[in-house]
Amino acid sequence: MTMPIFLHNTLTRSTDEFKPIIAGKAGLYVCGPTVYGRAHVGNLRSWLFADTLRRVLQANDFIVTEVMNITDVGHLVGDGDEGVDKLQMAADKVSKTAWDIATEFTKLFVDDIKKVNIETPHVMPKATDHIAEQIELIKVMEAKGFTYAISDGIYFDAAKLPEYGQLSRQKSEEKEEGARVVVNAEKRSASDFALWKFSPEGEQRHMEWESPWGKGFPGWHLECSAMSEKYLGVPFDIHTGGVDHIAVHHENEIAQTLAARGVLEANYWLHNEFMLIDGGKMSKSLGNIYSLDDLDLKNISPIGFRYFVLGAHYRTQLNFTWEGVKAAQNALNNLVDMARDWQKPSVVDEVTMGKFMLAVNNDLDTPAALAVLWNFVNDGAISSDVKAATVLKMDEVLGLALEDVIARPLRISEAAQKLLDEREVARIAKDWERSDLLRDELFGLGYAVEDKPTGQHLRERR
Ligand code: AMP
Ligand code: ZN
Repeated sequence: MTMPIFLHNTLTRSTDEFKPIIAGKAGLYVCGPTVYGRAHVGNLRSWLFADTLRRVLQANDFIVTEVMNITDVGHLVGDGDEGVDKLQMAADKVSKTAWDIATEFTKLFVDDIKKVNIETPHVMPKATDHIAEQIELIKVMEAKGFTYAISDGIYFDAAKLPEYGQLSRQKSEEKEEGARVVVNAEKRSASDFALWKFSPEGEQRHMEWESPWGKGFPGWHLECSAMSEKYLGVPFDIHTGGVDHIAVHHENEIAQTLAARGVLEANYWLHNEFMLIDGGKMSKSLGNIYSLDDLDLKNISPIGFRYFVLGAHYRTQLNFTWEGVKAAQNALNNLVDMARDWQKPSVVDEVTMGKFMLAVNNDLDTPAALAVLWNFVNDGAISSDVKAATVLKMDEVLGLALEDVIARPLRISEAAQKLLDEREVARIAKDWERSDLLRDELFGLGYAVEDKPTGQHLRERR
């Protein structure tokens, strides 16, 4: 059974049926991390959305090639063409090199996405490994008359490209008015952007390369045009990122590829809305930028966080509150408790699975898909072996790592059982101090214990 997949395309402003360039295949380019700091929950939302998209395509039998870039040079503070490189800034603060910072945070990033069960992208190219490709692309744009040089670099001349602005539908003049930072006076227009920036006079950058125009480094947008072309070709199928990338980063990627190759970089452009914290922006100064470690301290697991993200549609803003993530964690815990007691998977309930696929194929409507799941698992008329098989299939899209728990009753280690028994004694004696101490010890062994009216309830921390 093949069903259409509908996706909201920022470029057409409509929800269109996905039509691949090559039948049965999908090329996906996901805007990845700038590796100068640990990923926060908002960033993770962006990659969880892309992972859901990949899983939905796969569940519809597409063979997906996913490319996710690692930005390790050129992304300047403020996202524009001015200011210091984010990596160099992070490096200077701790007296390391930008190369050290890139290695450190790339590793952390890979660990984080594994924890939330994001499928590893097939290619994770680094900007610094593709300098030659980026220089080559500038040469093509230069030969076609799309570039000009000013004192701090080589710039793209947006006025030369009539299609410029098609993604954000923002005219060059509007950008001029909207520009928050003082525009570089040498730039011909506010829409123009750096393709190659020169290393500052008399200063050695940690990362710099020779080029036909002088020593320097590539502009931030260039890597995505160069690397997507190398690994997926032009045009490719789908490009993703957060909504903040629409007006500048993705607009400029499209401009570069169109100028150099005469075609659209990608056919579908999908953008996730932002995650807010307590209704506002996350920022370092407010101290509300959370990582997976901060969640762990409050007993929220990476998969619990994944469940929280799936509870909202990717195109709506998602407000992070501790109550909200705790409720999501509880829902996941309940599902896990149920699943452990199910019988071994037998046959999939195709009618329910059809409803589930209809939801996710409708522009990744994960809240509706979760509703299908809960109605199904709460239906007493359905046998638990069918539940096991069907939920296992749903989990190929949801990615809640349920295969580890379906029809697998919790095995309590001898050491944990001993602590649990001791805690029971302490509880009867109303020795709450000892009872809390034993709960912490169980925690250390990887178990969370909860006191329910029926007695102590143990679960594996996951
Ligand atoms: P960066 O490392 O800053 O380039 O960001 C990586 C990805 O996270 C990009 O696709 C951003 O659009 C996205 N992003 C950044 N902040 C948020 C947020 N608060 N909510 C959702 N996505 C975000
Ligand atoms: Zn990008």
